[in-house]
Amino acid sequence: MTPDVRDRTGGPSQVDGLGGCAVPEPVWDRALRLIGRADEVALACHVTPDADALGSMLAVGFVLRSMGKRVAASFGDRHFVVPRLLRFLPGQDLLVPPSEFPAAPELMITFDTSTFERLGLLRENIERAREVIVVDHHPSNEGFGTLDLIDPAAAATAVLAEQLVYRLGGSLDRDIATCLYAGLVTDTGSFKYSSTTPSVHQMAARLVATGLHTEEIARELWDKSPFGYLKVLSAALDRAVLEEGLVWTYVTRVDRAAYGLAYSELEGVIDVVRRAGEAEVAVVLKEDDQGAWQVSTRSKGAVDVAAVCAALGGGGHRKAAGFTAYGTVDEIMARFREELGKA
Ligand code: AMP
Ligand code: MN
Ligand code: MN
Repeated sequence: MTPDVRDRTGGPSQVDGLGGCAVPEPVWDRALRLIGRADEVALACHVTPDADALGSMLAVGFVLRSMGKRVAASFGDRHFVVPRLLRFLPGQDLLVPPSEFPAAPELMITFDTSTFERLGLLRENIERAREVIVVDHHPSNEGFGTLDLIDPAAAATAVLAEQLVYRLGGSLDRDIATCLYAGLVTDTGSFKYSSTTPSVHQMAARLVATGLHTEEIARELWDKSPFGYLKVLSAALDRAVLEEGLVWTYVTRVDRAAYGLAYSELEGVIDVVRRAGEAEVAVVLKEDDQGAWQVSTRSKGAVDVAAVCAALGGGGHRKAAGFTAYGTVDEIMARFREELGKA
């Protein structure tokens, strides 16, 4: 069933078939009113965006532009580049660097951004925004908008973004569907994780029905790594350590420099490391270009890594979370083990 939202007259009934959502109808209505009266909408997602962040933002950007709004979309990285793996996403002409982002937006909408800090440079802009709508699925998101569209049970921000697309009167075309599908397929681990409910598969069916090339999208996301990635992965696996229920490793910027690999290309390392069956928790420390350690953590369910990461200044989901840390690998792992012991 592909809902034909062009027939919609503004009532919520036509989106009822999309499955339950934690956001109450009056809140959606207020969001639509805020968007309806804005001439310009400034869209933002978290720093070093993943497919869910960028895809959700661009999908909504398409619809807002077709409504005649001025749209600027961005993320607050000091070095503003779209991760190479995500350059296939349509709608990148909506993107502007933080320096060209509206300084005091009339309306700003954030996507997949669990905390204010994750906006990076765009924190300055959000502080001066008149209205802020937060679109997210992180349970740790306490809601920093003037209006929050947060569903902690949603498998991806793309789930909420799809609802917003329909409610704005947009219809799915292949470009919008590509953006949403990229978010959905990555955040569910290719429909493997427990967040993959029947309604996730129903959403995927709606997206695929637009004529999506799912095989091509999968190839873009997972099968276009530069050869150097194999070498860096190999080094990381070679020095992986298995401790009591924990497997961990790290990748330095020197490792990457040897193969000209960008930080954003390391996203998949954790997916390999977490395969160790002996480990309940997997950790990969990735040194970014500034020398900070971006730590990815995964749990198979028994441990709430979001709580562990929150104690270390980060956040995320119960089974997938992260934090930023400084110091040596040994120091960071000592702090991590200490917090893990409390969990
Ligand atoms: P990643 O390991 O980068 O795929 O991130 C997994 C989850 O942890 C995502 O949902 C992120 O939102 C969250 N996360 C990662 N890094 C951080 C951080 N530095 N601060 C807060 N949350 C983070
Ligand atoms: Mn994300
Ligand atoms: Mn997400």
